[in-house]
Amino acid sequence: MALGSLEIGIVGCGIAGQAAASFLADAGHVVTVLERFEQPHPVGAGLLLQPTGLSVLRALALEPDALATGARIDGLVGENQWGVRVIDLAYGDLHPAAFGLGIRRSDLFDLLNRRLLGSAARRVTGVEIVDVERDGARAVAVDRKARRHGPFDLLVVADGAHSALRQRVFPRARAPLYPWGCIWTTLPDTQAFGAIRLLRQRFAGTSSMMGVLPVAPDRLTMFWSLPTPTLEADQPLDLDAMRHEALALWPDAAPIIERAFDTGDFARATYRHVSLPGWNDGPVLFVGDAAHGTSPQLGQGANLGLLDAHALARSLAEAGDVPQAMERFAARRGPTNRFYGTASHLLTPFFQSHHDLLAIPRDLVLQHACRTAIGRRLMTGALAGLRRGWRSAETLDADGRYPL
Ligand SMILES: Cc1cc2nc3c(=O)[nH]c(=O)nc-3n(C[C@H](O)[C@H](O)[C@H](O)COP(=O)(O)OP(=O)(O)OC[C@H]3O[C@@H](n4cnc5c(N)ncnc54)[C@H](O)[C@@H]3O)c2cc1C
Repeated sequence: MALGSLEIGIVGCGIAGQAAASFLADAGHVVTVLERFEQPHPVGAGLLLQPTGLSVLRALALEPDALATGARIDGLVGENQWGVRVIDLAYGDLHPAAFGLGIRRSDLFDLLNRRLLGSAARRVTGVEIVDVERDGARAVAVDRKARRHGPFDLLVVADGAHSALRQRVFPRARAPLYPWGCIWTTLPDTQAFGAIRLLRQRFAGTSSMMGVLPVAPDRLTMFWSLPTPTLEADQPLDLDAMRHEALALWPDAAPIIERAFDTGDFARATYRHVSLPGWNDGPVLFVGDAAHGTSPQLGQGANLGLLDAHALARSLAEAGDVPQAMERFAARRGPTNRFYGTASHLLTPFFQSHHDLLAIPRDLVLQHACRTAIGRRLMTGALAGLRRGWRSAETLDADGRYPL
C-alpha cells in the first residue's frame, strides 16, 4: 500500500534541503523547511556539478536555467609545479555528449530557492534547530529558543557538514575536521580560462595547490589550499606570501593571481570527514553533508546531496510506511555515499597535507593511469559520480546523461 501525504520537516535550506523540499512538496507531502538564517543565503565556493547532479536538476526542471547560468566543463587537468600534466580526464571518454557544469553557489542557490518558493513547501526562517525529540513514532525539532516544530512523520536533517544535530541523534557519529581547507574567491575571467572548459589545478608536493574553475560565461572561482589552523576567523591571512607562492607555482595564471590577491576578497572553507552509524534513527533521516560530508577533492558533495533528495522522494513513493522508505533510501544511497566518503578521505592527503613525499607516488600513478584507456575511464567515471563502490559503477545513458 502506498504512503499517503506525510507531514515532513526539513532542517536546513541548503542544496540538499531545498531539493528535497521541492521533490517532496511536489509529491503531495506537507513540507516545512526550518532554516537558521533569517535570509537564507549560499555559503562556500563555486562548484562543479557532475552529470549526476545535472540529472537531478533536470528532474526539478532547472537544468536549462543552470546551463544558461554556469560554464560547461569538459574535463579536469592537474599539473605539477613543472607544468607536467599529472591528471588529464575528459567526460568525453565516458560519452561524447557528457560534461560537467561549473556554477556559482549563489546561482545554484537562487535556482533551487525559486523552485522551492514556487512549490507548496512552507519555509520558516530564523530558527536554529538544536535538538530533536521523539513523540511516539514522530519527531519534533526544537529550536534555540526552546520552540517546538512538528511533530513530523519524517524529519530530514540537511544542516550541512558542521551539523549541530548529528551528535544529538547519533552520539557515535564522527566528523573530524580535515587538517587542510582552502580560501576561494570568484573573479572576472580576463584570460578566457572558461573557453578551455576545464577545471584546472596546479600543485607542488602536497602543501601547495591552486585550482581554477570557470563558473559562469565570464567568471571563474580560484581556490588556494591552506592548513586548517590558519583558516580560523581570527587568523590574519598572509596574502603577500601566498601571492608569491602562487605566482611561482603557476606563472601563466599571473593575471588571475594578481587580481585575486589585490582584491583580497577571500572566503575561508574547512571540511569534515563525516561518518554515521546509519542514515536514520527512526523518523529522523540525515542527508547531504550532514550525513556524508567529505573533502571536495572528488567534487561530489553537492551532487550527492541532490541525489539524496531525489532518492528520498522515490523511496517514499515506493514504500508502504516510513521505516520501509528509510530502508529503501539506505539501499539506494548507502553504497555510493560510502564509496565517495572513503575515496575522498584516502585521496585527500595526496593533495592536501604536510607529507610532500606523497606527491611522488601520486604523480607516478595518476600520470600512468591517465595514459591508459581503462585508467582514464575508471577515473573519469569516479569524477562523473558514477561509482557505487570499489567494484561497481553505473553508466551514462544513450544520450550521455545520468539515468536517475
Ligand atoms: C571549497 C569547497 C569546494 C567545493 N566544491 C564542490 C564541487 O566542486 N562539487 C560538489 O558537488 N561539491 C563541492 N563542495 C561540497 C558542497 O559545497 C557541499 O557538499 C554542499 O554544499 C552540501 O549541501 P548541504 O545541503 O548538505 O549543506 P549546506 O549547503 O551547507 O546547507 C546547510 C543549510 O543548513 C542550514 N543550517 C545549518 N545548521 C542549522 C540549524 N542548526 N538549524 C537550521 N538550519 C541550519 C545552513 O544555514 C544551510 O542553509 C565544495 C565544498 C567546499 C567547502
